[in-house]
This record gives sequence, structure tokens and C-alpha cells, in this order.
Amino acid sequence: MTLLTLAAKLIINMDKFSKKAKNILEGFTNEVTGKNQKLSDQRMEICQSCVKFHKNFCLRGRGGCGCFLPAKTTVEDEKCPVDKW
Ligand code: SF4
Repeated sequence: MTLLTLAAKLIINMDKFSKKAKNILEGFTNEVTGKNQKLSDQRMEICQSCVKFHKNFCLRGRGGCGCFLPAKTTVEDEKCPVDKW
């Protein structure tokens, strides 16, 4: 692997990390302020009947994303890892 390829991969990973960090912050802010509550309610209803759902988390041990769903479901550009919403 060349240094240039390594640098390109690092930049791509940093971009993914910063998007994830931005969405986590946005989700918790939305949850506190009540933004996108209707969207969250619709998504949470789907999650609550999913086998990966446990105590408001999407369980990584069952193939889920590991996210705290009351926050994640408020973020418009977030997605269910198995395309249920
Ligand atoms: S985000 Fe998707 S996989 Fe996770 S609990 Fe909700 S419906 Fe299930």
C-alpha cells in the first residue's frame, strides 16, 4: 500500500467518523429539544417490534448498530442498519 493510498483511506475514515460524531450530537440535541419527535415516534414503533431492540438500544450482539435509539431516530439522515426505516 502506498503512502498516498494510506492517506486517502485515512481521510475517508476521518470523514465517516466526523459524520457519525455530528449525527450523535445532533440526535442527543434533538432528543433534549424535542425536534423531529414525530419522526422518532414512527421509527421507535418499528424498533420496538424488532428482535434487535432492547432497553432503547439496537443491540450490536444481535447484529444491530449499537446505537441509543431515542436519539438516533430523531436524525433525518440516519438509517436502520437492516433498512426497516
Ligand atoms: S434500528 Fe433497525 S435493526 Fe435496530 S432495533 Fe430499530 S428496526 Fe431493529
